[in-house]
Amino acid sequence: MTNPQAIESVHTSGVYAKRDLTIVRGEGATLWDDQGQAYIDCVGGQGAANLGHAHPAIIEAISEQAAKLISCPEMFYNDKRAEMLSKLTALAPAGMGRAFLSNSGAEAVEAAFKFARYSTKRSKIVAAMRGFHGRTLGALSATWNKKYRLPFQPLVPGFQHVPYNNLERLEDAVDEDTAAVILEVVQGEGGVHPGTAKYLHGAQKLCRERGALFILDEIQTGFGRTGKMFALEHHGLEPDLLCLAKSIAGGVPMGATLIGERVGELSPGIHGSTFGGNPLSTAASLAALNVLEEESLPQRAAELGAYLLAQLQKIESPLIREVRGLGLMVGVQIKQKVAPYLQALTDSGILALPAGLTVIRLLPPLVITREQIDRVVETLREVYTGSKA
Ligand SMILES: *Cc1c(COP(=O)(O)O)cnc(C)c1O
Repeated sequence: MTNPQAIESVHTSGVYAKRDLTIVRGEGATLWDDQGQAYIDCVGGQGAANLGHAHPAIIEAISEQAAKLISCPEMFYNDKRAEMLSKLTALAPAGMGRAFLSNSGAEAVEAAFKFARYSTKRSKIVAAMRGFHGRTLGALSATWNKKYRLPFQPLVPGFQHVPYNNLERLEDAVDEDTAAVILEVVQGEGGVHPGTAKYLHGAQKLCRERGALFILDEIQTGFGRTGKMFALEHHGLEPDLLCLAKSIAGGVPMGATLIGERVGELSPGIHGSTFGGNPLSTAASLAALNVLEEESLPQRAAELGAYLLAQLQKIESPLIREVRGLGLMVGVQIKQKVAPYLQALTDSGILALPAGLTVIRLLPPLVITREQIDRVVETLREVYTGSKA
């Protein structure tokens, strides 16, 4: 075949900053390029690959389901969807017994906003500065980064941003027309900033007091990433709407909006999705949820994440401002732009993500081995200090 990079360069939309790599295969936390070069994957499908690449349980689930039934809109009942829904809602906080199934994170967020407005008959949505909730027009209205938002104005009216981890400013913003507050438990794209227990609980309480709904966006933090199945478990939070996607189906595209008791009846026709709840995604999701439990991946993320964080904090470099994170969601904030460092890491066989201009973000599959983590740490040390331990 002709060079894929040459072909994609001609036909791609142009909205992605591409890296000079053609990835063709993966297994566990390892990716290979078309030259046969191996990389330790700390991009983790941008958070979609918590189970690792080519997990046998996912391969089996989608192969079996593909041979049986792929298309089945929600106007019909389906065995796989039913099984997946009971599994997912059993893992969620008590009272979140309903779910709207979709195909991506942005769609999970759009559904949450629509349900919040429909249910409360109010319009205002309060989101956080540095927050990221997706790039469709509704979700984008809640996303903070001006670079993503400004070219697309006017956005959806009624959105307001307040500083994260600042309860007083949130109290000022939530009023009798507020339909919902949306927050991440750990801000991902915004630079890996964990929310404090006091703030998140305060936000939940404030919503209850003022009749607004409390939406948590766990699209990135969900499914074991932070060391719990859902990051809300760290603080015992009980949101009214919970947005999920990324690793929900072992890497197969899927989103879900879990719906709590304070969200009233939702009537037929007010929302929908052609692909939502399709048998292929739900079969993959059911398998993924089972694997997360059977392989204790949240626990593994807690242990390996604490180890990774401790090892990274030992690196002495004047370049590093702060190392922070929760579970296997880790950010290294440096005093310069990250782009050249990401390239240096790639050259040394480690793929990592940026989060903003100055944070290197690591989102490895939760199946990453301790040896691979040691190599990641050693390589970061070399890149930041120019010397080995
Ligand atoms: C990735 C992400 C989204 C958007 O998900 P897409 O599937 O890219 O639409 C929304 N919220 C958070 C917190 C995310 O990390």
